[in-house]
Amino acid sequence: MAEKKELLYEGKAKRVFATGDPDLVIQDFKDDATAFNGLKKGQIADKGVVNNTISSALFTLLESKGIRTHFISRLSEREMLIKKLTILPVELVVRNVAAGSLCKRYGIKEGLVLDQPIIECYFKNDALGDPLMNDDHVVMFNLATREQLAEIKSQAVKINIILKSYFLERGLKLIDFKLEFGVHKGEVLLGDEISPDTCRFWDSVTNEKMDKDRFRLDLGSVEETYQEVLSRITGKA
Ligand code: UDP
Repeated sequence: MAEKKELLYEGKAKRVFATGDPDLVIQDFKDDATAFNGLKKGQIADKGVVNNTISSALFTLLESKGIRTHFISRLSEREMLIKKLTILPVELVVRNVAAGSLCKRYGIKEGLVLDQPIIECYFKNDALGDPLMNDDHVVMFNLATREQLAEIKSQAVKINIILKSYFLERGLKLIDFKLEFGVHKGEVLLGDEISPDTCRFWDSVTNEKMDKDRFRLDLGSVEETYQEVLSRITGKA
């Protein structure tokens, strides 16, 4: 069992702790929820347990399909042992169906199915509200090298194919999701989490929203929906 040492970093939904090994850290999932760049704040009971369990299952799935991630093991209900990354400050959003900021920014109707996935880059910078960027911005502002950007985009496309079919088998359409990558010993690995906080899922029959949009948009049944997504994932190995 990895020894939990000092707090290294506290984010909106997770804390990161040192361990006895400088290459490894513990990611501890909180119940705190934020939306609209921190303007809306709240708690979702047991979200930390749900997101840790779902992320652990998805990282295990992706590793089994050849995607390199920071994941080592799930340590407890809320804790995950991971490789320490230097996070690239670029968030990749992969979209299969129009929703959220895509609809707002471009005046597109929610639910439009995209023929090919759209990949977007955002500058990971809360003070600036995570602005959308093109590839040249990412490279010229040194957020990632041209080669790293090509690599993480190609990983994102592969991850989308794996996750789309995994979720569909569990009655969920994968609408869009956000990925973060980081460097560990010179290698680019998938980091952060993959959960209903960072993905949009719609029920494959009813199109009901099954993700953080229930919190963002005050749709009700927030906790119940997180538990439902968890049971669809853990109930079908
Ligand atoms: N997302 C995220 N963190 C962010 C911004 C977006 O995890 O800081 C996820 C979000 O949950 C959704 C996808 O990325 O699954 C696309 O989000 P969008 O750009 O539509 O922004 P939002 O509507 O969340 O403001």
